[in-house]
Amino acid sequence: MVKRRKRLRLEDYIDGVLNSKRGVLSRAITLIESNHPEDKELASQLSDALQSRRTPDKAFRIGVTGVPGVGKSTFIESFGLYLCDLGYKIAVLTIDPSSQRTGGSILGDKTRMDELSQHPNAYIRPSASGSSLGGVAAKTRESMLLCEAAGFDIVLVETVGVGQSETAVKGMVDFFLLLMLAGAGDELQGIKKGIMEMADAIAINKSDGNNETAAKKAKGELTQALHLFPRSESGWQPQVFTISAVEKKGISDLWANLNQYQVFAKSNLFWTANRQRQNVKWLHDVLQYELLDELKRDEMIKEKLKELELGVKEGRRSVPKAVKILLKMIKKT
Ligand code: GDP
Repeated sequence: MVKRRKRLRLEDYIDGVLNSKRGVLSRAITLIESNHPEDKELASQLSDALQSRRTPDKAFRIGVTGVPGVGKSTFIESFGLYLCDLGYKIAVLTIDPSSQRTGGSILGDKTRMDELSQHPNAYIRPSASGSSLGGVAAKTRESMLLCEAAGFDIVLVETVGVGQSETAVKGMVDFFLLLMLAGAGDELQGIKKGIMEMADAIAINKSDGNNETAAKKAKGELTQALHLFPRSESGWQPQVFTISAVEKKGISDLWANLNQYQVFAKSNLFWTANRQRQNVKWLHDVLQYELLDELKRDEMIKEKLKELELGVKEGRRSVPKAVKILLKMIKKT
């Protein structure tokens, strides 16, 4: 017989999270990810209560992206262990929107940071699931705040560099790290220029064995390429590093760079301005997502939407007219 877990009350969640109890933190994140109206209500009360208690700006939020196979999990394992050994508490969250499309996750079929997950200073939470990137991203943001309330110093958000999820992650972190490979022919291998422009640092991974020379060469080329990009808004000049996640090489230089960034961005006030802007963007994202969700729950609107979709599909109706009809109907309800 499956034993049903006792439902936690709001105070249990608050106490558990603030006292860094992993089990409660996990359940709190599950609560936040739930779409059940009762859970949603409790989740919003929890976020609200924690918002007033957490120390703002405490955790360093770092996004990690790169194409599948570049070594993100291996890197996060090495980097995370390095930081844990320095005494930091690390939380790792992943955004993997591909899991909704394929039903199976690109990230799911690999060994996932075994050693790091056992470390007492680390907490790893796999991808939130949902029907849209906007929804998944919003939940990851909330989970990030829960981790901060639970006292984690550094939150790593990992995403697969194959779609729009990088933009979502860039919009919720302080530092955006792009992992790349050398020696695979074209140095830009599938990574769009736009993603390179978002990066605060690029690390060329697998710089070990026969690959080391190619990695150094790629570093030179990428450094030149980065100088041709317009300066980022923060005024920070991104650098290129060669690392080996497997051999744990280059990790400390990279961490030094991230620390320099913290000092730089905090002193020129970009840090706070960026977070404030991210909060406002978050509000708009959630509003948009929740509004659509709410509308799709209304049976009449759902019916009408279906009818209009068909009309648009078959070319009987123009899109602006269809939207107008729907908006009129919404205003009446
Ligand atoms: P992800 O898909 O980006 O998360 O990549 P993984 O971390 O799963 O790594 C993909 C493959 O590359 C695995 O077989 C790793 O063992 C290997 N790998 C990762 N980092 C390194 C590295 O620094 N050097 C070498 N030689 N292989 C690596």
